[in-house]
Amino acid sequence: MKVVKKIADVRQLRWQQAGTWGLIPTMGFLHKGHLSLVEAAREANDFVGVSIFVNPIQFDQAVDLEKYPRDLDRDLKLLETAGADLVWVPAAAEVYPANFQTYVAVEKLSQPLEGAAREGHFRGVATVVALIFNVFQPTRAYFGEKDAQQLRVIRRMVSDLAFNMEVIGCATVREEDGLAMSSRNARLSAEARQQAISLHQALQTACKAFENGEQDAQKLKTMMRKVIDEHTLTKVDYVSVADTETLQELDKIGNQALLSLAVFVDDVRLIDNIIVSH
Ligand code: AMP
Repeated sequence: MKVVKKIADVRQLRWQQAGTWGLIPTMGFLHKGHLSLVEAAREANDFVGVSIFVNPIQFDQAVDLEKYPRDLDRDLKLLETAGADLVWVPAAAEVYPANFQTYVAVEKLSQPLEGAAREGHFRGVATVVALIFNVFQPTRAYFGEKDAQQLRVIRRMVSDLAFNMEVIGCATVREEDGLAMSSRNARLSAEARQQAISLHQALQTACKAFENGEQDAQKLKTMMRKVIDEHTLTKVDYVSVADTETLQELDKIGNQALLSLAVFVDDVRLIDNIIVSH
């Protein structure tokens, strides 16, 4: 496994190996969710590239960026075991040199949900992912359904800007009790970790109600809020019942919907989602 910092070094290695390349962009502090993407890429491609970069321009809160967990040595060991071929670990100045001034905006899809809660978030995500795609020029790139809106924003960008590659979505990997794996989970106290299960429980509660015939989005949202509000350390940022493609809020669910939520548990902001369908 090669570990490089410079764009030129990624380019050189990528083009020395002419086969298919799978790419996994990450912000590091890797867990089994990330490794499931590496595994999916390993199965379908000749080579696997990973980027590790905590992208400053997608954080709207300086303190969130500062507190984002990092452990490069551990990440590289995990990637070596998982069978990655090339890891790009750029410094911020390699990605955003002085005078950088070009940004990608995926307009409508970026507005609701995470986009409404985190000013400029998807402009930052789309810009860095476009740049990483141009550096690696992968055959396929792998993203988690855990970040459902991000996956849709990236798919739109790839389609609209005619990137010559495929975007693959992978299922959310969860802890045994249902909590979606996230690098941010490492910041939870023992008590907060216990209460963080409420995100999954809220989604499950609404999912069961939908399966039992409830189609009213407002009622499902109230149910989800109630599950979260029963805990002492939690604060709902948003709960949503939206169209799975456009991400616009629904009044009444037809065949399917994306149920999603963002919750502060102590001061750690967690997100989760599930698609319900008949
Ligand atoms: P991040 O390092 O948080 O930017 O995530 C890098 C990639 O891993 C993104 O495509 C995420 O959606 C994906 N990912 C994060 N958590 C999970 C999870 N629990 N299951 C599956 N994929 C995940």
